[in-house]
Amino acid sequence: MPPVHPQILGKLEHSQKVLETTPSGHPTPAKLPSRNPTRSFWIDSSPDANPLAGQGSQDPLPSEADICIIGAGFTGCRRRKRTFTGRNGGHLTPAAFTRFAQRQALFDTVEAIKSYELEQHTTSLLVKIIEENGWASDVDLVEGGHISLLFTEKEAKNAHNDFDMARQAQLNLDGVEWLSKEELEKEYGVPYPGFRRPGYNVWPLKLVTKLYQHAQAHARQYASLSLHTRTPVTAVTHETTSTYTVVTNWGSISCSRIVHATNGYASHLLPFLASPDGIIPARGQVMTTRASVGTDQIKISSWSGNKGFAYWFPRPVTRDTEKPLIIIGGGQEAAAPSRELYVDDDSETHPLVGKALREFLPSVFEGKYDPHSEPEMEWTGITGYTKTGDPFVRPNLLAANPDRDLYKKQYIAAGYTGHGMPRAFGCAEVIAQMILAEISDKEWKEPDWLPQRYLTWNRRVE
Ligand SMILES: Cc1cc2nc3c(=O)[nH]c(=O)nc-3n(C[C@H](O)[C@H](O)[C@H](O)COP(=O)(O)OP(=O)(O)OC[C@H]3O[C@@H](n4cnc5c(N)ncnc54)[C@H](O)[C@@H]3O)c2cc1C
Repeated sequence: MPPVHPQILGKLEHSQKVLETTPSGHPTPAKLPSRNPTRSFWIDSSPDANPLAGQGSQDPLPSEADICIIGAGFTGCRRRKRTFTGRNGGHLTPAAFTRFAQRQALFDTVEAIKSYELEQHTTSLLVKIIEENGWASDVDLVEGGHISLLFTEKEAKNAHNDFDMARQAQLNLDGVEWLSKEELEKEYGVPYPGFRRPGYNVWPLKLVTKLYQHAQAHARQYASLSLHTRTPVTAVTHETTSTYTVVTNWGSISCSRIVHATNGYASHLLPFLASPDGIIPARGQVMTTRASVGTDQIKISSWSGNKGFAYWFPRPVTRDTEKPLIIIGGGQEAAAPSRELYVDDDSETHPLVGKALREFLPSVFEGKYDPHSEPEMEWTGITGYTKTGDPFVRPNLLAANPDRDLYKKQYIAAGYTGHGMPRAFGCAEVIAQMILAEISDKEWKEPDWLPQRYLTWNRRVE
């Protein structure tokens, strides 16, 4: 569903064109999340998937708070019933080198390198937290590596060029391995060349739940943290230069700082972001399908192909011969011309995207998937795209909208362009450190791995 990702990178070029030519010419702010979203495997397939569903939804809202975090995914690490992190594809795969040459030409070598360092930092931090706390089996963490298939000569040429430029720039390429067509055919029965890189998959909603519970347990000694699910924020207004009111249908909260962790929905509360240069909602679609053969033949790695338009991995099994359930997302190329950009409704699926997803695996892995089998579950989710594929990580939204004092102590980390798992947690860390420095009257020190351009509004695109 998006760019700057291994699985999304190929779509960036097209997305940029579509973002420039919006359906109406003047995009409108995103609506609030739908009340009847499609049912996702991560949320609805297991009774223990979402223990915090409904938490705090009946409790009175506090009348005031120091900081209000709006949003319930990896960035906010909070939860409403239908967190979008609970609707995604489950890949926790840092980009290895894809788009390196383009980034180096657009920005500079240091900035290009930092794009990958942020992802490596975020992924290794999440994996460290999972392992140190013994959550690996609770969140189904699988370290299976990720294989990108290169369907065309052009793709293969670009990938090799990116790799060579990255190596010359001394980017850390540990774990990257080129695979010939013959090797992939022999090992996996797929007739394309590709490359493998380190990568994981997880049950995203279970991980976010653990992170929230962990934060709450540790916050107790320093602060009081409360979660109010099913409480959409309808507006943010300005009381004084230092106080805001967060308005919901169940009441209002007065607070001195606001963090927008609403990703594809950011423009609902920040309408100036409803622009091709802002954050555009985009709909992604995912389904589960059963393989026709066992994991002994499918293996456990995660995959992407078709320029990143398709991404998939098998769920863990208890026996090698068990036919695994595959989670596969993508297919937006079938929804021409918009490819689901500017779509903010995940209460339905797109039939043509569904058709592309159903046909993909049987056509690529001959004999391993039944072309007539119907998905066990199929759902959509909304994510936030930006023109460059880079997220916005900003304190002080005043810089984006100088007319309004309203935005002075509002922060945002959003716009991961469909590649949030290895980026959102790291970007949220940046915002948290900024706020901490401000509150304790210290200077904020920029982490070495943070690309400078994430902090700015005016970003170049070729
Ligand atoms: C179908 C699909 C597949 C994807 N697959 C992958 C993948 O495999 N790997 C990967 O890295 N990334 C993937 N992504 C992207 C990834 O899910 C996101 O980048 C990531 O979830 C971003 O986390 P977040 O916390 O910023 O936002 P989200 O997880 O989108 O959470 C935003 C939260 O804000 C809440 N919200 C919005 N507006 C309001 C409001 N006004 N008031 C209160 N709450 C509000 C929403 O309910 C939601 O809980 C996929 C996305 C989709 C949609």
